[in-house]
Amino acid sequence: MSESTIRSLLASAAAHAADYVESLPERPVGLPVPVEDLRRALGGPLPESGSPPEAVLDQLVGGASRGIMASSGPRFFGFVVGGTLPAALAADFLTTAWDQNAGLYTLASSASVAEEVAGQWIKELLGLPATASVGFVTGCQAANFSALASARHALLEREGWDVEGRGLYGAPEIAVVVGEEAHVTIHTALQMLGLGHDRVHRVPADGQGRLRADALRPILAGLRGRPTLICAQAGNVNSGSFDPIAEIATQAKSHGAWLHIDGAFGLWAAASPKLRSLLAGFELADSWATDAHKWLNAPYDSGLVFCAHPGAHRAALTAHAAYIERPDDGRARDPFEWTPEFSRRARGFAVWAAMRSLGRAGVVDLVERSVAHAQRFAELLGARPGVAVLNEVVLNQTLVRFAPPGGGADDVAIDAFTRATVTRVQESGELWLSGTNWQGKAAMRISVSGWSTAPADVERSAAAILRAAGR
Ligand SMILES: *Cc1c(COP(=O)(O)O)cnc(C)c1O
Repeated sequence: MSESTIRSLLASAAAHAADYVESLPERPVGLPVPVEDLRRALGGPLPESGSPPEAVLDQLVGGASRGIMASSGPRFFGFVVGGTLPAALAADFLTTAWDQNAGLYTLASSASVAEEVAGQWIKELLGLPATASVGFVTGCQAANFSALASARHALLEREGWDVEGRGLYGAPEIAVVVGEEAHVTIHTALQMLGLGHDRVHRVPADGQGRLRADALRPILAGLRGRPTLICAQAGNVNSGSFDPIAEIATQAKSHGAWLHIDGAFGLWAAASPKLRSLLAGFELADSWATDAHKWLNAPYDSGLVFCAHPGAHRAALTAHAAYIERPDDGRARDPFEWTPEFSRRARGFAVWAAMRSLGRAGVVDLVERSVAHAQRFAELLGARPGVAVLNEVVLNQTLVRFAPPGGGADDVAIDAFTRATVTRVQESGELWLSGTNWQGKAAMRISVSGWSTAPADVERSAAAILRAAGR
C-alpha cells in the first residue's frame, strides 16, 4: 500500500471516529434494532475476492452503525460501563497502529514499562501496597480469575502441594467462602479453576447486599484448620454497597484465609478521601480485582489484578519456554508472567493515558461527581409518589421501583410496571439503562460512571424516566 493510501485511510477512519464521538451528546442512546437487520447489513456470502481498504471501511461503518450502543455518551446508565476519556481513546488508536505484542518485554519494551508505571500510579492512588504485583487483563472477570489462581497456588503450597504441576487430583481441599451477593464472575472464576461454583459456602447478605460479618464467623469456625479462600466485594453491581471489609479482614487473618476483593468499580472509591471509609481495611487483603474500562473510563478491554504476594501471582500464571529470554538482565518485566494470556494487546498504553490525563485530582473528581449524579437521580425520582428508591445511594448506583400511577397496585403489578417503564425508557433513545431483580423485587438500575455525564444530563434523564413512568 502506498504512503498516501495509508494516510488517507487512517484519516478517514479518524474522521468517522470523530463524527461518532461528536454525535454522542445528541444521538439516540440505544434504540433496539432487529438482529436480522444487522445480519443483513453486515452479512452476505463469503467474499470470494478482496476489497480495497477504503471500501471495507465504508461497508463496516454503513453496516455496523445502527447496532452501535452509545455507551460512551453522557446519558448511558446501563450495567456499569463508563465512557472513554479522549486521551485514552487517542492512545488506543496508536496502540492499534503500533501493534505491539505486549506479552514480552523483548517485543514491546515501552508497553511493559507503561504498564509498570501505570500500575504503580494506580496502587499509590488507591492506597494498595506498593509491593503488590499487577497484571493488565481484559476485564474484572480475568482479574478475578488471576487473583483466585494466585490464591489457589498459595493455599496449596502451604499444604505442600504443587497445584501447577500436579493439578487438583488428590490435592487438599480448599474451602471457598463467598457472599450471597458475589458477582457472577467470581463463580465463573471458581468454575474455571476447578474449585467449583456449587461447593462454595455462601454467607447471607443484609438488605443492602453486604456480606454479613456475623454470619461469616460460624462458617469460618466450621472450617478451622482448612485452607480457606474468602471472596469479598467492594461495590455491589446493583446497590453499590460494600461488604464490611475491615471485619472480614480481621476474621480472615485469624483464620489464616486468603482474602480476595472484587472491586470492579468500587475499588476506585478508595481514591476519594470522602468515600475511602467505605472500603476501610481493604489494603489488608491478599488480592484485588478491578476494571479500568469501567470507572477509570479507559476503552475496552481493560482490567487489573493486584496481588500482595507476587511470588504466588507469578507462579500461578507464568509460562516456561526455552525460547523466552530474560529481558534486560532480569531488570525488566515480562507482562505475560502476570496474566492468563501470552501474546496480547498493549492495553496498558490507554490506562497510562487515562491516568496521565486525569491525575489524582481528576480521578477523585470523576468518582465523586458520579456519586453526586446517582444521589441526584435518587432525589429527583424518589420525591414522586409511588416511586421508591430501594438502596442507600452510597456510590454510583441507584435502584428505583415504580408503582402504576393511581396507586392500589400489589407487588406483582409494581414489578410489571417497573419492567415496562425500563422498556419505555430504552425505546425513548433519550438515555439507556436496564432492569434487575433486587432481593426479589423488579427494579430499574441506574449506574453512573461516564466522565462526560453533566448535571443537565441527569435532570434531562430523570425527566424522561418520569415521563416513561407516566408522571
Ligand atoms: C463488572 C463486574 C465484574 C466483571 O467485570 P468485567 O470487566 O465485565 O469482566 C466483576 N465484578 C463486579 C462487581 C462487576 O461490577
